[in-house]
Amino acid sequence: MSGLVGLLWALLFVGGGIYLAYQRVDLRTSTIATGLALAAYTVFGDGAWWWLIILWALFGLMVVPNLVEVRREKITKPLLDVYRKMLPAMSDTEREALEAGNVWWDGELFSGMPDWDKLMSFPAPQLTEEEQAFVDGPCEELCRMIDDWEINHKIGDMPREVWDYIIRKKFFAMIIPRKYGGLEFSAYANSVVIQKLASRSAVASSTIGVPNSLGPAELLLHYGTEEQKDRYLPGLASGDEIPCFALTSPQAGSDAASIIDTGIVCKGKWEGKTITGIRLNWDKRYITLAPIATVLGLAFKLYDPDHLIGDQDEYGITAALIPTDLEGVEVGRRHNPLSVAFMNGPTRGRDVFVPLDFIIGGPEMAGKGWKMLVELLSVGRAITLPSTASGGGQAASYATGAYATIRKQFNTSIANFEGVGDALTRIAGHTYIMNAAVCVTSGAIDEGEKPAVPSAILKYHCTELSRRCANDAMDIHGGKGVMMGPTNYLGRGYMATPIAITVEGANILTRSLIIYGQGAIRCHPFVLRELQAAGDEDHDRGLIDFDKALFGHIGYAISNLARSFFLALTHAKFSSVPLNTPTRRYYQNINRYSAAFALASDFAMLTLGGDLKKRELLSARLGDILSSMYLASCVLKHFENEGRRATDLPLVEWSVRTLMYQAQEALHAFLLNFPNRWVSWFLRFFIFPRGRTYKIPSDDIGHRVVELVTTPGEARERLSRYAYTTLEPGNPLGQLQEALELTLEHAPLEKRLRQARREGLIAADYLGLQIDHAEKAQVISKAEANSLREYHAKVGALLDVDEFPLDEFLHRPEAPAVVTTENREAVTKKKKKTARKKAAKKTAKKKTAKT
Ligand SMILES: Cc1cc2nc3c(=O)[nH]c(=O)nc-3n(C[C@H](O)[C@H](O)[C@H](O)COP(=O)(O)OP(=O)(O)OC[C@H]3O[C@@H](n4cnc5c(N)ncnc54)[C@H](O)[C@@H]3O)c2cc1C
Repeated sequence: MSGLVGLLWALLFVGGGIYLAYQRVDLRTSTIATGLALAAYTVFGDGAWWWLIILWALFGLMVVPNLVEVRREKITKPLLDVYRKMLPAMSDTEREALEAGNVWWDGELFSGMPDWDKLMSFPAPQLTEEEQAFVDGPCEELCRMIDDWEINHKIGDMPREVWDYIIRKKFFAMIIPRKYGGLEFSAYANSVVIQKLASRSAVASSTIGVPNSLGPAELLLHYGTEEQKDRYLPGLASGDEIPCFALTSPQAGSDAASIIDTGIVCKGKWEGKTITGIRLNWDKRYITLAPIATVLGLAFKLYDPDHLIGDQDEYGITAALIPTDLEGVEVGRRHNPLSVAFMNGPTRGRDVFVPLDFIIGGPEMAGKGWKMLVELLSVGRAITLPSTASGGGQAASYATGAYATIRKQFNTSIANFEGVGDALTRIAGHTYIMNAAVCVTSGAIDEGEKPAVPSAILKYHCTELSRRCANDAMDIHGGKGVMMGPTNYLGRGYMATPIAITVEGANILTRSLIIYGQGAIRCHPFVLRELQAAGDEDHDRGLIDFDKALFGHIGYAISNLARSFFLALTHAKFSSVPLNTPTRRYYQNINRYSAAFALASDFAMLTLGGDLKKRELLSARLGDILSSMYLASCVLKHFENEGRRATDLPLVEWSVRTLMYQAQEALHAFLLNFPNRWVSWFLRFFIFPRGRTYKIPSDDIGHRVVELVTTPGEARERLSRYAYTTLEPGNPLGQLQEALELTLEHAPLEKRLRQARREGLIAADYLGLQIDHAEKAQVISKAEANSLREYHAKVGALLDVDEFPLDEFLHRPEAPAVVTTENREAVTKKKKKTARKKAAKKTAKKKTAKT
C-alpha cells in the first residue's frame, strides 16, 4: 500500500512537472505550484526526513531564479560576458539579410507550440471583380495568342503582336499603383496571372514575371523619391520603358554581395554643366530583359575617394536607375537559356557618367542597395517563381491525368498500372502542395506580412516540386514527351525547370544556407533578442534584456523537452487543434514535430554555435523540417480556404503525410549525423522514444488520388484551377480534357467491341476495321460507330508526335547534309549509279580473272 502511495506521489511530481512545462506555465506560478505540492507531501506523505531535505534543497534551487536582482547579478552577468566573447562576427550584409522582412507563421512553428488561431484567422485570398476579369479576359487571350513552338523554335522571340498585347494590356504593370497608370493588383492576383501564363508558356511567364517582381518598379515603389516615381512609373506602366534588374556578374553569382562593379563619385559633365555624379563601370550577365531594356536597375559598389559627398571612402552596394541610351551602356546581346526564348543577356557599361540622384531613393540611399534587395526578396521570392512552379504543376497534373487515361497499353489505360499511378499521385500531390503554399503565402502578403523565411521555403520547394512534376510527367508520357514539336506540350517546360532552380538564389544554396540560416536566428523566439541585448552599447539595459531573454529561453527549452517527449509518446493524440475535422490528426502531427524541431534546433545552436553555419548538411536538414511543417500547414489552411471539400481529402492526406514523413526522416538523419553523440542520444530519447513511427501515405490514398486526377470533375478542375484549360484549337490541355471525357463516355462501346472480338463476331485486329466490322455485324449502331471513329480520331491526334522533313533542323545552310529534301532524288540516283558502276567493275574483274 505504501509503495502505491509513493508511486502516486511520484506521479504527481513528475506528471505535474511535465504538465507545467508542457503548458509553458511561467516560472513564478510553477514555483508556487511546486512549493504547494512539496508542502502537501511533507505533511501527508511518508517520505524519510533525508529525502524531504533533498527535495526542499532542490526546491530552493528553483526559487533562486525568481529573485530577479540576484539572478541577474550572480548568474546572468557572468554568462553574458562569456556569450559576448563567443558571439560569431556578423557582416553588415548578413545582418541586413537577417533583418529583412518579418516573422510570421514560421515563428510559430519555431516556437514548439504553434498557435493555430494565428494562421486560421487569415482570410482566404480572393480576386476582386477587376482582377478576375483580367484573368478571364486579357490573360486567357494572351494564352490563346501564344504559340510556344513558333516562339522557341521558329522566331526565337514572341511575335510583335504578342509583345504589343502584353504592353497594351499592362501585363508589365500589375504591381504599379493606378495613379501611375498601373493595374495595382494584389500579390494573390499577380500570382494567379503568373500561374495561368506558366501553364501555357515559360517564355510568357518569365517575361511578365520579372517586371512584376524584383525590378525597377518594385524598387522605386518602396525606396524611390517622388521625382523618380513620377519620372519612371508612368513609362513602366505604359510599356514605354522596359525594365531589367542587373545584379549578377561573371565573378559574383550566388555570392552577389561580392560584385566588383563600381561607381566612383566624381565631377563630370551632364547636360552641358559640370556636376558631382558617379562614373560607373559594370559587367553583368544573365540579366532577364536586358537585351531590350530601356532602363537598368543597376547594383554596384559606390566609392567616394575624394570625399565629395561625405567622409566615407566606401559606401557599399548601391542601386541606381540607368537609362540604356546613355553613352557607354551596352545592351542588346543575348544568352540562350536552355533554348527557352525569353530575353536574357549581358550588359556592360564603360565610364558611364550619371548624376547622384540616379541612385534609387536619392544620394542618402547610397550604400543601402543590399538592404533594399534583401527586403524586396523577402516578398518577391514568394510570388513569381513559386507561382510559375505551381502553374507548371497544374498543367502537368491536368495533362498527365488525361493522357494516362487515353493512352492504352496491354488493352488498358496506363493510369491503371500501379507504377504509373504512383508517379501520377506524386504529380497531383506535389501540385496541391504548391498551390496551397502559393495561395496561403500570397494571401498573407496581401494582409501586410513580409515573410522572409517562408519566401525562401517557397522558392526552394516549389521549384523543386515542379521539377519533380516535370520528371514524372515526362516518364508517364514516354516518347510523346520526348519528341519535340508543335504538339509537344511538356518538353519545353521540362527544359525550363533548371532556370527557376537557379535564379533568385540557386536552390542548393537556398536550402543549405538561407532557409534555416535565416530562420534560426530570425524566427527563434529568443536568439535574436539575446544577440541584440548582447550587442547593446548600453550595458545596463543590455543586461536586463539579456536576462529576460535568457531565462525565457531556458523555460522554452525545458518546455520543448517535455512537449517533445509527451507528444512523441502519445502520438500527439491529446494536443490541442484549432478544428475538429477529419484533418485534426495532421494538426497534431505538426504540433509534435514543431516541439521536436525547436528542441533539436536549440541543442544544435547551443553545442555548435557559429559552426552550424558551416555544417550545411545539418542546417539544411533542420531547414527541411521547418519547410515540411510550413508546407503542411499551408495545405491544411488551403483546404479550409477552399471550403473543406471532402473530395480534396485524398490530396490533403497524401500531401501532409508525405511532408511529415519527410520531416521525420530529416530529423532522424540530423540526429544520426550530429557530431556530439551524447547530445544526439539524449535528443533521440526525447524526440523518438517510440522510434520512427510516422508512416508514408498508404497505397490506398495513392489510388484515391489517381482516381481524382483521372476523373473529370470538380476536384480535378480545382487542382488545376488557374491553368489555361479552355477547349479550343491549339490548346492541348483543353483537348486532353475533351478526350478524357470522350474516353469515359465511349468506355461501354469499347467494352462491347472487345466482347464481340472475344466471341468471334468481329475478326479484325486493327481498331478502325474493328469498328467497321462491328457496325456491319450490328454489334454497334451506325451512330455509335461514327461517334467511336470521331473519338478515335481526336485521341489519335493527341497521341501523335510531330515529324519533320529531313532538313528541318539543319542550322548551317552553307554545309548541307549529304541528303536533304531537295537533293534526295539526285542523291538516290547518284547512289544507284555508283552502285551500278561498282557492280560493273566487279563483273569486269571477275571476267578478266577467268580469262
Ligand atoms: C535564366 C536566368 C535568368 C537570370 N536573371 C537574372 C536577372 O534578371 N538579374 C540578375 O541579377 N541575375 C539574374 N540571374 C542570375 C542568377 O541569379 C544567378 O545565376 C544565381 O545567383 C546563381 O549564380 P551562378 O549561376 O553564378 O551560380 P554559382 O554562384 O556559381 O553557384 C553554382 C552552384 O553552387 C551553389 N552554391 C554557391 N554557393 C554556395 C554555398 N555557400 N553553399 C551551398 N551551395 C552554394 C549554388 O547553389 C549553385 O548550385 C539569372 C540567371 C539565369 C540562369
